Amino acid sequence: MRKYLFAGNWKMNKTLKETEEYFNKFLKRLSEIDFSDREIMIAPPFTVLAYSKNFIKNTPLKLGAQNSCWEEKGAFTGEISPVMLKELGVEYVILGHSERRHIFGESNELIAKRVEGVYKFELIPILCVGETLEERNKGKTLEVVEKQLLEGLSNIKDIKGDKIVIAYEPVWAIGTGINATPEEAEEVHSFIRERLKNLYSKEISTQIRILYGGSVTPDNIQDLMKKPNIDGVLVGGASLDPEKFFKICNIK
Ligand code: PGA
Repeated sequence: MRKYLFAGNWKMNKTLKETEEYFNKFLKRLSEIDFSDREIMIAPPFTVLAYSKNFIKNTPLKLGAQNSCWEEKGAFTGEISPVMLKELGVEYVILGHSERRHIFGESNELIAKRVEGVYKFELIPILCVGETLEERNKGKTLEVVEKQLLEGLSNIKDIKGDKIVIAYEPVWAIGTGINATPEEAEEVHSFIRERLKNLYSKEISTQIRILYGGSVTPDNIQDLMKKPNIDGVLVGGASLDPEKFFKICNIK
């Protein structure tokens, strides 16, 4: 019932020329992918969003953004509004990524505002949660994930399950080459689903997609996707290579 979501997060990578080269290669492989059970989203940096739209407009690919303000417009230097993103054809917005939390100091409270704003303007927030290695070693994984989840969603009362996505991204797995094992990921994913059930309802909790992110590659995706509560992946490094990302998106 839930459609898989394979999401690529380019982070602060790719110029115009590199974007063109990427899509020229990636689009050639697209006809090999069966989209009946999955969606594929790519989130380029803001500077190439409009350019990326030109390449994907007649394809099933979805466009994502890596952050968004909550207001429509105004005095928010350095920010981009959900309305501006919508105008470019953006459908998904990654929010609360660990790099936003840890490098730029974004709090749960700020992230909750972003989630609310994006949701209000009918874009789909992908709320990222995940513990650091220190927190995991102290046995605090579920506590940290729960707090980020509940506080991140605190402004979303009237929820539609297919209009919000959660991504579990353990900080120690991001960009390190050390992915969570399918068992470690599944434990947290099933916990998240349980918490969503308590927060909203059983029906809603079964509609919400929960992605895993952190050193996903063509080699480890298969085992991760076998787990019942893993509904897709959020891919950083490997999404920058069209051939690797194609292999990830095309797993059976
Ligand atoms: P990674 O990044 O795949 O390079 O580990 C994942 C992410 O940060 O979304």
